[in-house]
Amino acid sequence: MKKEFLMAPGPTPVPPDVLLEMAKPIFHHRTKRFRDIVAEANQNLKRVLLTSNPVLTLTSSGTGAMEASVVNMLSPGDKVITINGGKFGERFGLIAKAYGIQVLEIMVTWGEAVDSSKVEALLKANSDVKAVFATLCETSTGVKHDIKSLASVVGKTNAILVVDAISGLTADELKTDDWGVDIAIAGSQKALMLPPGLAFLSISEKAKALMEKSTCPKFYFNLKKALKSYEADDTPWTPALTLIIGLNSVLKMILDEGMDNVLKRHARHAEAIRAGVQALGLKLYAPSAPSNTVTSVKIPDSVDGLAFVKKIRDEKGVTFAGGQDDAKGKIFRASLLGYACDFDVVVAMSAIEMVMHELGYKFEIGTGVKKAQQSLLEVR
Ligand SMILES: *Cc1c(COP(=O)(O)O)cnc(C)c1O
Repeated sequence: MKKEFLMAPGPTPVPPDVLLEMAKPIFHHRTKRFRDIVAEANQNLKRVLLTSNPVLTLTSSGTGAMEASVVNMLSPGDKVITINGGKFGERFGLIAKAYGIQVLEIMVTWGEAVDSSKVEALLKANSDVKAVFATLCETSTGVKHDIKSLASVVGKTNAILVVDAISGLTADELKTDDWGVDIAIAGSQKALMLPPGLAFLSISEKAKALMEKSTCPKFYFNLKKALKSYEADDTPWTPALTLIIGLNSVLKMILDEGMDNVLKRHARHAEAIRAGVQALGLKLYAPSAPSNTVTSVKIPDSVDGLAFVKKIRDEKGVTFAGGQDDAKGKIFRASLLGYACDFDVVVAMSAIEMVMHELGYKFEIGTGVKKAQQSLLEVR
């Protein structure tokens, strides 16, 4: 027998009560019973995304909502800015190019956050830019981008700001309306504690106006259709109703705890992990702008990085994510997203220590666990 600990930046553990809720017999979706659930979820989504705008629920993984934001806002030949500092920022550019959109891509060194003044300068030089695509937490590197400052820059122009907050929502702060984010995108399988399969997208009035001009081809991800259904607490196509039932439960859990408390919990846990790994002499991969969504840690040269991630998962039952592209074998990424408590921090640190020790890394056993526990006791 092996007990499994899912500590990767998605998918994440689903609370047992929510699993039970989703295990109940299926019923038909074109019913008042289901519309009541949708109505409640729609209201609560606004409270979690901190917006008064509609938040659409799509049956797809997060990338579906990213694609929806492109094909519903833009037309072939339009110009956009993307920020490529990792796999997810890169993805917006790839989607846009697939639809014949001109992409001005700002390259950012992996492990660093984008400098908003670069976006500002590019916007000044290209007054015809229709949209800027950004990422709250760039999950591939663990960086948190400064969305507030990006929003203040983009807000002065005619362009809309689209933010991929799929991993970051409820772990790193996102004030959608206060900051002026036009489209905020989320996904079910990260801090929202649900299985994969739902994506969410808020739409501002500025974005709705741009949508009117869009000529990109679209059918399944037609947001005008989705908005029309939304007004009637419905969805255009058969929704993943099991997941929406689960959504209703997790949103209540999040709002019962309180958005501020949920954010603080993620911050405390991330801080404890950062303190713990550094006490072992390990280095953070994104030290200047670490997210609270995922902590990426450099694996020492003396340790086989691929073996570390494999061993900790296959032998200890602790699933972290490894590095991608250039970071492959060089980092591991640990997340305590959503359904997590203080003792999960101890499990994560203890597993890191045991496997690092087994792979020959030298340190005093217990140093990281102790530091993490001290950090948890200090920050309340
Ligand atoms: C997980 C994630 C996505 C979505 O990926 P899917 O596999 O399509 O759900 C997008 N952006 C970021 C930042 C993510 O972490």
